[in-house]
Amino acid sequence: ASGAAVRLDLDGRPIQPLTICMIGAGGFIGSHLCEKLMFETQHSVLAVDVYDDKIRHLLEPENGHPWSSRIQFHRLNIKHDSRLEGLIKMSDLVINLAAICTPADYNTRPLDTIYSNFIDALPVVKYCSESNKRLIHFSTCEVYGKTIGCFLPKDHPLKNEPEFYMLKENETPCIFGSIDKQRWSYACAKQLIERLIYAEGAENGLQFSIVRPFNWIGPRMDFIPGIDGPSEGVPRVLACFSNNLLRHEPLKLVDGGLSQRTFVYIKDAIEAVHLMIENPERANGHIFNVGNPNNEVTVRQLAEMMTKIYAKVSGEPSLEVPTVDVTSQEFYGEGYDDSDKRIPDMTIINEQLGWNPKTSLWDLLESTLTYQHKTYAEAIKRATAKPAAT
Ligand code: NAD
Ligand code: UDP
Repeated sequence: ASGAAVRLDLDGRPIQPLTICMIGAGGFIGSHLCEKLMFETQHSVLAVDVYDDKIRHLLEPENGHPWSSRIQFHRLNIKHDSRLEGLIKMSDLVINLAAICTPADYNTRPLDTIYSNFIDALPVVKYCSESNKRLIHFSTCEVYGKTIGCFLPKDHPLKNEPEFYMLKENETPCIFGSIDKQRWSYACAKQLIERLIYAEGAENGLQFSIVRPFNWIGPRMDFIPGIDGPSEGVPRVLACFSNNLLRHEPLKLVDGGLSQRTFVYIKDAIEAVHLMIENPERANGHIFNVGNPNNEVTVRQLAEMMTKIYAKVSGEPSLEVPTVDVTSQEFYGEGYDDSDKRIPDMTIINEQLGWNPKTSLWDLLESTLTYQHKTYAEAIKRATAKPAAT
């Protein structure tokens, strides 16, 4: 008899091994999802991306991994590659993560942003619909845009009422800025692809789940400018602040750092996706918020917390003046705008999949900054060391 215990789904049925076509598998979320599937399940992954750096540790055959026959990397750009349809046809499930998804691009490369998040996702939806493949599509919490409460005068008591800020999948409207605020090009493209997938479900019976991540963060997110990404590049806030801390520069607070976010640990969030993969009957037809409503901070508070934790894990003292204010115009350029507050309602994911996040903001920042320090501190030292005089 084989030693491996049979794993059961939430309704007590044995889980059959699946072939999963994961598009964008080489990114931040994809790399963690691939790890989860290789380490803890018997599913196979056709990993599609233009880059493989973040999953190379899973792919190298010379390491003789026990999962090596279950993961296959396909380097292709889904914008123009006829192999995509074949890979989807070979799969039981498609997970689409591919997208341009860094705010610095939304207002400066709005065309690429819209093409990537809407046009390039169209064939994926179409092939799934035509060949009856289940689709888990990654959208964003940004489809909610701004809260209703943000239009109330400052200090208005109604701002504290949940119906003015709580974001619910099936009730809350999507509120974006005007067209010249190109920040919203991303959210709008994601909203339209959500509507298209929803319509494919309603009219053609497509089996789908839509994931709206609320600021998932952890190791391998984005890049450190000048080390493993362009020196002029602007990643998302975790990598921006990590970069500042590693270089002993003040953290830049955009427009006062007053915006509020809830951060969830990537490893908690991946558990939610794992449950969706293995419980199709509970997950199909739903849109899921995936976030941690208990981990809310302003961006300024995040900066203060990361400064404290980095001093602890690196053993280096923090700067006397740890933050500096910058305008969004200076930092992001014309057309930037912001979501004011993002608290996910967790009712649906709780009822359907029994999922709850576990890790506190302090703990997730401590493990992430420990990783950042280990991975990058030496490289930064080398890069910033004065070149020897000639
Ligand atoms: P990421 O940038 O690390 O990963 C995206 C991956 O897709 C990259 O590896 C990229 O190379 C790949 N890709 C993009 N275009 C491609 C193409 N044309 N062909 C092949 N590969 C392509 O981002 P992530 O944080 O892992 O996000 C994954 C998804 O989740 C995105 O759709 C994003 O919009 C969504 N999301 C993430 C967060 C978060 O908190 N991390 C929040 C909201 C939404
Ligand atoms: N931000 C900041 N300093 C930085 C990078 C980002 O103050 O160096 C702010 C940004 O304006 C936003 C928040 O941090 O209010 C989160 O930004 P992120 O890029 O992570 O993405 P978002 O949550 O807006 O999608």
